[in-house]
Amino acid sequence: MSDGDVLAVAEHRRGELRDVSLELVTAGAALADTAGGDLHVAVVGGDVDAYASKLAVEGVDAVHTVTVGDEFNHDVSVAAVSTLVEDLAPTHLLLPHSVDGMDYAPALSEALDRPIVTDAVSVDVEDSALVVNREMYGSKVETVVTVDDGPFAVTVRPGEFALASGSSDADVVAHDFDVNLDALGSTVEGYEAVEAGDVDITEAEFLISIGRGIDEEENLELIEDLAEVTGGTISASRPIVDNGWLAKGRQVGQSGKTVTPNVYLAIGISGAVQHVAGIKNADMIIAINTDPNAPIFDIADYGIVGDLFNVVPALIEQFD
Ligand code: FAD
Repeated sequence: MSDGDVLAVAEHRRGELRDVSLELVTAGAALADTAGGDLHVAVVGGDVDAYASKLAVEGVDAVHTVTVGDEFNHDVSVAAVSTLVEDLAPTHLLLPHSVDGMDYAPALSEALDRPIVTDAVSVDVEDSALVVNREMYGSKVETVVTVDDGPFAVTVRPGEFALASGSSDADVVAHDFDVNLDALGSTVEGYEAVEAGDVDITEAEFLISIGRGIDEEENLELIEDLAEVTGGTISASRPIVDNGWLAKGRQVGQSGKTVTPNVYLAIGISGAVQHVAGIKNADMIIAINTDPNAPIFDIADYGIVGDLFNVVPALIEQFD
């Protein structure tokens, strides 16, 4: 590899390539462009050939596959990615700031003796130094980390970059990973989904999000009716989850999930910074709230000042 090359590590779960992989390609392609290098993408484990064909999108110069195991395994990821990094010697290494990425990235950094910058919302090269932006306190505070004596690794926050698309004639390079899995220290016995039947709100195109304005758990039935007639997916603000009315996986925001739907319908949600941190990349935000001064209206594209117990039944009637 040459100076300025970027290696982005893709992620998959249960046989599906996760969106963050193609977001890393977008981030990595721009970075490689500025740094004057190539973009290499790696995928470890699972049906690597199927993933490689999905990863050969515009901007990708090579896809590196490592066939080992089906499910994510911390030790395998650390060993496989560090072997790839040693072989390919990229200048920059991008990893997802996801549950899996956060699991193995620090250990990888330690194994490679590379400094790590986590939870990046942007990555750029200026005067040959890598400039990484991070956000805290629901985007109220931005920190800029400048590293001019790389190499180093960066974990990138999901939902911050557009999905890469198109196609490329990227080389697909299969790497042998000769490792004694028994000696790695851990084995994956199986996969147990949390709260079976629940959904991944980060993949939803239309989210109907409910907040404390719903007042009582039994009133959620109204929101379920709206979701049924519109085909929307239900998400929530934190108090709803804290009350145990919906699963934690449905929480949007700083301590929940960052979502990127086409439409985010916020019902009875005030728009606290910790909530808004999770929706800033929604294409369109529509808010229903009785309070015309609710902060959610500051970021909403469309708003209805009204009582949800009047507005939602009217919407149901409209879509039914
Ligand atoms: P409220 O702020 O109580 O707002 C309810 C809204 O409903 C009000 O605007 C009200 O006008 C409106 N309303 C009431 N009745 C009706 C009606 N009948 N019809 C229409 N509108 C009505 N919050 C998150 O959501 N996600 C997070 O990830 C998150 N992480 C946090 C992390 C930290 C460290 C901290 C300190 C807080 C976090 N919070 C998070 C909590 C956050 O600060 C807010 O408390 C929370 O978002 C408020 O939720 P809400 O908008 O549903 O409730």
